[in-house]
Amino acid sequence: MNKVLVVGSVALDSIKTPAGSVDHALGGSAVYSSISASYFAPVNVVGVVGDDFSKAHVALLKKHGVDTVGLEVAKGKTFHWKGEYPEFGDAKTLETHLNVFADFDPKLPKGYETTPFVFLANIHPGLQSRVLDKMKKPKLVVCDTMNLWINITPDELKTLLKRVDIFVLNETESKMLTGIGNIIAAAKAIRAMGPEIVIIKKGAHGATLFSDGFSFSVPAYLLESIKDPTGAGDTFAGAFVGTLAAAKKIDKAALKKAMAHGTIMASFTVQDFSVGRLAHLKKSDIARRFKEYVALTQL
Ligand code: AMP
Repeated sequence: MNKVLVVGSVALDSIKTPAGSVDHALGGSAVYSSISASYFAPVNVVGVVGDDFSKAHVALLKKHGVDTVGLEVAKGKTFHWKGEYPEFGDAKTLETHLNVFADFDPKLPKGYETTPFVFLANIHPGLQSRVLDKMKKPKLVVCDTMNLWINITPDELKTLLKRVDIFVLNETESKMLTGIGNIIAAAKAIRAMGPEIVIIKKGAHGATLFSDGFSFSVPAYLLESIKDPTGAGDTFAGAFVGTLAAAKKIDKAALKKAMAHGTIMASFTVQDFSVGRLAHLKKSDIARRFKEYVALTQL
């Protein structure tokens, strides 16, 4: 089966939501997306952790079949993010400590450079570009980002976007990047920057995919309560890429299935802090929720 290469942050997160809080819990864009993708396709991960990173966290990734040879251990502290969700809306960043990511020079272990599917999970766009430079003709490049990089490194992000096939971002970010509030018009402007396909996520209101002459919306999976929205976007994107990597071909049907898998996997992530629910799913949990989701969305 096609493999997915993921590059992104591997983090220790301190998070507060109306449902509680955690301190230095396992997180990071590469962690959520790798575990999520691993339910659909094998994953190689590229990133860096400090010498404070627990071996149990690496073991958890390995348990999911994630190849961690590309996860460098550097002297110093692991990337640390502190965030708050006063009302489960967009995250409010309180602190970002790049730590070992500040001097990270990604090296791809032998064989990684031919991985056919690449997911550039949220991290500095310069770093995403450097990993892409080392790849040999990937079949599909999917990219995510966050408000911080749109704000402080817009030029590097725009240079990267020229080399990306599918760009995933949320509604607020699409407005920041384009200055356009209407998501159809914003998606058109972003597609003109390079990506053939743009997916705009709207949190609890689902997501829409925009392609040439083809758009497709999915609602969120209905949940009565959530604990922590952190990682929902990364989880969505990981499952999306993993599903495409497992598909025979990337057509409309595969894109629709990938959007549905992204949505239901994200719904598991928000039901607990960190990867508490995401990392402990059985295939039958996913199949059951997928069936319910199909029933919920069918006209
Ligand atoms: P999201 O899917 O957008 O909720 O992503 C949440 C994850 O993003 C958290 O686990 C954080 O560790 C990670 N994160 C926060 N800020 C950054 C940043 N500046 N660069 C990379 N990852 C980040």
